[in-house]
Amino acid sequence: MILILRAGTDKNSDDFRELMEHLSQLQKIQARVHDEVGIQQTLTEIYLVGDTATLQIEDMESLPCVERVVRVSEEYRVLGRHHDDDRPTYFEYNGVCFGQNNLNIFAGLCAVDTPQHVEIMMKALQERGLPCTRMGAYKPRTNPYSFQGHGKSCLPYVFELAGKYDIKVIAMEVTHDSHVREIHEALEQTGHPTGVMLQIGTRNTQNFELLKAVGREPEFPVLLKRGFGITLEESINAAEYLASEGNRRVVFGLRGMKTNMGDPHRNFVDFSHVPVIKRLTRMPVCIDPSHSVGTRDASPEGILDVFHVTAQGVVAGANMVLVDFHPFPSKALVDGPQALHMDELDYFLEDIRIAREAYEKRVTLAQTHLKARASAA
Ligand code: PEP
Ligand code: MN
Repeated sequence: MILILRAGTDKNSDDFRELMEHLSQLQKIQARVHDEVGIQQTLTEIYLVGDTATLQIEDMESLPCVERVVRVSEEYRVLGRHHDDDRPTYFEYNGVCFGQNNLNIFAGLCAVDTPQHVEIMMKALQERGLPCTRMGAYKPRTNPYSFQGHGKSCLPYVFELAGKYDIKVIAMEVTHDSHVREIHEALEQTGHPTGVMLQIGTRNTQNFELLKAVGREPEFPVLLKRGFGITLEESINAAEYLASEGNRRVVFGLRGMKTNMGDPHRNFVDFSHVPVIKRLTRMPVCIDPSHSVGTRDASPEGILDVFHVTAQGVVAGANMVLVDFHPFPSKALVDGPQALHMDELDYFLEDIRIAREAYEKRVTLAQTHLKARASAA
């Protein structure tokens, strides 16, 4: 059960003390206080864990400071979408809004290689008014002899260039909690010119110690990729690990599932799950067409499969697109063959615009239908 307190509740007030005193006397129930720090105000929520079935919503709503009470199902306590749960489905980070109703595009390098390539990419994004990118510094590779990413040595120039080109959020994978410290240090050293969304990759979706460490991280939001060989439920529980430790600014990333070797795509594309994640949870949903398709194959009409699946995800309501681009794919140190080319950027953005417009029209159509049905009843 979650008690949502009135905005601006003062933890030093008598009312708050009285509330906590009352909760401490409930048998077999623990109360955990969580502050949601927003731009305009801090919202306090109290999670009641344990034998809450006997508690009545009306009784709890009559306690001091309490504005609303939500009874949560057992699953996905913090990030889940519960009955009568109108808590927000968005968060803001470094001036960019991430929610279940909007769309952000993170085009960028799979792996940082040279400052020149980073600069070409970021300049192109700024020219198109795009404030987000992807830049991999720590690369988990299947083969131990493959390039493992430049690591912390590239962070200062990546962050400085981001500042120069108005990039507000960089999605960057971390595979160890020491990487989070290195990112903090590099941001500090460069004067915080940009922001970072920590990415947990598909190979680490169930690295519980990493999830707990990143969950305790107060500054950065997280993009959690679905595990490529586990159930959807297991992956959503991984997201819940982050939230249960305190970090609720989580975007859920779909990136395809492992199937058999020799399939046409690197992974089996799972973007039909976009609406499922939105139904089960309050997380914005990201799609990664590059790592799911993994090729530049095209259909007979000349459209790349990467474009096709992006459109499929966006038409179903995706909120973020994470996509590999490279100015010189043959020189890319990781995943060059799947990267889109710079001269495809405008074409890609226009294709997404068409798909998003179709999604918005579909939402309007659905609402019209539901209204007509309700008034006929
Ligand atoms: C990536 O986005 O660079 C990546 C490695 O993705 P995934 O973890 O989905 O394979
Ligand atoms: Mn990659």
